[in-house]
Amino acid sequence: MSSTRTNYWAEVVVDSALAVLLIHEGWRRHTGGALTATLAILLGLFAFSFVEYFFHRWMFHTRVPLFAEGHRLHHERPLGYDSLPFFLPGAVLLTLTGLGVLILPVGFALLLMGAVTLGYIVYGLSHFTIHHVRFKQPLLRRWAAGHHVHHYHPDSNFGLTTPLWDVLLGTRYVRRPRKR
Ligand SMILES: [Zn+2]
Ligand SMILES: [Zn+2]
Repeated sequence: MSSTRTNYWAEVVVDSALAVLLIHEGWRRHTGGALTATLAILLGLFAFSFVEYFFHRWMFHTRVPLFAEGHRLHHERPLGYDSLPFFLPGAVLLTLTGLGVLILPVGFALLLMGAVTLGYIVYGLSHFTIHHVRFKQPLLRRWAAGHHVHHYHPDSNFGLTTPLWDVLLGTRYVRRPRKR
């Protein structure tokens, strides 16, 4: 784990470079046309939304050493820069891309993993923004509130970018009616 600002932003740079590279190369090598290329990207983003939920619920809030420890720090100090070593997520994503290329058409695999990487960046920046920015726009306020609620009720609202998986899997926070 690292808590430095430099490590945090270095990861954003590394992951962004990886996403651009994968999507660019994937688009170039994909032989199925623009429609299926776009579908591969949408599929990757959708897949990431579940990965986000899965990790937060079953890895960060359990006893998986590195993840649980880092996430506990985040719950203790939400404005901190606690994150994984900057090269680690990129290395994992690149390894998965390597495996994907072995079993799927190359262009499709690159687009899919490029979109998963993009989803991960969007998730990271969204999380940072939710804790560092006070939104005025009502919809954005509602979106951010979903995650702030998670900090008070850690057994609900595991999805950050979207409430979809919380709704489907029954972990969306529901305010109990006040007792009279
Ligand atoms: Zn948070
Ligand atoms: Zn959490």
